[in-house]
Formats: sequence, C-alpha cells, structure tokens
Amino acid sequence: MDSNRQEVDVLVLGAGVSGLMAARALQQAGRRVGVVDKGRGVGGRLATRRIGDATFDHGAPCFSTGEASDGLRSVWHHLAGSVTEWGSEDVDGAGRRPCWRGVPTMSAVAKRLADGLEVHTEVQIASLGLDAGRWVATAVSGRVFVAETVVATPPVPQTLALLEAGGFVLADGHRTRLAAIGYDRCLTVMAVLENPSLVPPPGSLSPVAGPIERITDNRLKGISAVPAVTLHATPGFSLEHWDLDRLESGRILLEAATPWLGSAVRTWQIHGWRYGRPRAPLACRHLLAHASPALVVAGDAFGGPGVDAAAGSGAAAAAAILSGR
Ligand SMILES: Cc1cc2nc3c(=O)[nH]c(=O)nc-3n(C[C@H](O)[C@H](O)[C@H](O)COP(=O)(O)OP(=O)(O)OC[C@H]3O[C@@H](n4cnc5c(N)ncnc54)[C@H](O)[C@@H]3O)c2cc1C
Repeated sequence: MDSNRQEVDVLVLGAGVSGLMAARALQQAGRRVGVVDKGRGVGGRLATRRIGDATFDHGAPCFSTGEASDGLRSVWHHLAGSVTEWGSEDVDGAGRRPCWRGVPTMSAVAKRLADGLEVHTEVQIASLGLDAGRWVATAVSGRVFVAETVVATPPVPQTLALLEAGGFVLADGHRTRLAAIGYDRCLTVMAVLENPSLVPPPGSLSPVAGPIERITDNRLKGISAVPAVTLHATPGFSLEHWDLDRLESGRILLEAATPWLGSAVRTWQIHGWRYGRPRAPLACRHLLAHASPALVVAGDAFGGPGVDAAAGSGAAAAAAILSGR
C-alpha cells in the first residue's frame, strides 16, 4: 500500500467547527471519513494561544446559539463540560442571548467535536481536482487523498484557489456566487499585563469608537492564570493596516486600549486573521458545487457569520450528502 495515498468515502477539508460537524454526522452514518487541516491542531478560528503563563482565545472569544439553531445545539449533550455560559450579547437587534465559551478554552470545543474522528493535522492541501471520476486532493507534502465525496470548509476564497490549482472549473453560476463572498480581516493583539485590567466582569467590552472592536480579559473570563487581554481590531482598522508594519499596528491598538488596561504591558504578540468573518454570508446552508462525484462547499459563509452558523452549515452539508441531495 502506498502510505502517501489514502482513500476515503468522504474527505473533509478543514477541521474548524463546520468541517468537524460534517465529519461527525457522516462518520456516525457509517461513511469512512478523513479530515485534513493545515493547522497544528483542530479548531481553525476557534483558536487558543499561550504566552508563558497567559492563555488567550484569539479567534472567536465566544458564541451564541440562535433559538432555531440547528448548529451546536444539535450536539449540545456531547459538548457538556466543554462549554459554559459567559455573559450575553445582542444578536442582530433580536434581543439578548446567552454567550458560551469553551472550557477551558475555545479550542477545547473543537477538540471535543473531533473526538473519535480521523483528523490529519499539519496537512496543507495544495490542489483539489477530479481524476477518473473521483476527487483528488494533493497536499503540499505530496500526500494524496482520494475520495468519492468532498466537503470543503476553508474560507471560500481558499477553496476556490484549491479548485483552480486542481484544474477544476466550477459552473458559472456557482463561481459567481462563491467569488462574491468577501471576509473582514481582523488584526488581533494578545497582551500579557503586569496587573489586572480595568475591563469589568464578565470580561468583555466593545468600545463605541476607535480602532478596537472588542477587548477580552482572559483572566476574568476564567481561562488565563495571569492578567492577559485580547484586542480585536475593527474591520476598517485591520484592512487599512494589513500591509503595514505589524509591530506599529500593535502599538497603536495597545495605545487605544490604555483606558481599559490600567496596567503596564509585560509582553505582547499580534496575529492577523485574513478571513475573520464573512461580510455577506449566503442565505443557503451549503452549496452543492458539483453533483457527482459530490463536492459540497460549507462553512460560516453559509447562513453565517458565526460559530453556530458554521456548525449548522457543516451539519446541513452532511445531511445533504446522506440524503443524496
Ligand atoms: C477574531 C475573530 C472573532 C470572532 N468572533 C466571533 C464571535 O464573537 N462569535 C461567533 O459566533 N463567531 C465569531 N467569529 C467567527 C467564528 O470563529 C467562525 O465563524 C467559525 O469559527 C468558522 O468556522 P469554520 O469551520 O467555518 O471555518 P474555520 O474555523 O476557518 O475552519 C476552516 C479550516 O480550514 C483549514 N484550511 C484552510 N485551507 C486549508 C488547506 N489548504 N489545507 C488544509 N486545511 C485548510 C484551516 O486551517 C481551518 O482550520 C470570530 C472569528 C474571528 C477570526
């Protein structure tokens, strides 16, 4: 057997919440499923970083679930112990809903969803194309995955690039719809503080003006042993500063956060999310981009833009595959 070549019924690209939800449902239905992700661990934008004794959720800080949610609520029992309530937020002016955070961190939610799945991390797919009636995904390392069906959950521009590299031409209508999906970027500063910040409990604050969209106190949130804040920049600031000196952009954000820090900064890092959140998600929960062999495109760009929608999209993609729609 060629150890560099693997055959599965369904290949799921991406071990973020949407890919993991799709993979769980398909595996439970008896399909042989492989999940690949270029990251060192699972989670995608459910991301956690450590700097010394400090712990930061530097992707989504939390999520809320809609009343009619078919996302994470469908596996709520499975997530017991790995999520806890953390404040509330106004969802699209429809009233306040509880927010949930991962226990101990947001990436733990993804780890729990990945339980029992065959996940290949640190595998970056370079191209996705058709060969002899099956999908062939080729990794940068040369490793090859062959599948009857693919669920593609990377941010949509990344999926389109993989298909282009694989020489696969989407039907015009699909291409136009997918190519129109844009994402807001997000520059994110993780700062370890000398003393506790001035952010009030439960540890999240959204300034009304300035370059910061949200400040999260990770110690108040209950995930960091030492004072540590995450600063998420606004989409406007992030776009404007994307190609500029990152250290300088970080300094500007730290300066803007001064009124809520109330402490000297011990050390800090900055991360850029090129695909932070989709700007204009499609109303549909997934897109059947090719019927046979099936290619289903899913993720938070479908019914998005948040964690719960991504989960719902993954679940809907799996349901569509299982029902042959
Ligand atoms: C800063 C920030 C703040 C946010 N705040 C909130 C919030 O408050 N509430 C909320 O609900 N949501 C929030 N979100 C959005 C939320 O995180 C996402 O909607 C959700 O996590 C998306 O999940 P996904 O599975 O669709 O995509 P992702 O999590 O992006 O998963 C896609 C996966 O595909 C992998 N991948 C990409 N290309 C390849 C390749 N070539 N080969 C292999 N693997 C590949 C990536 O590594 C990634 O793991 C926030 C996001 C960010 C970045």
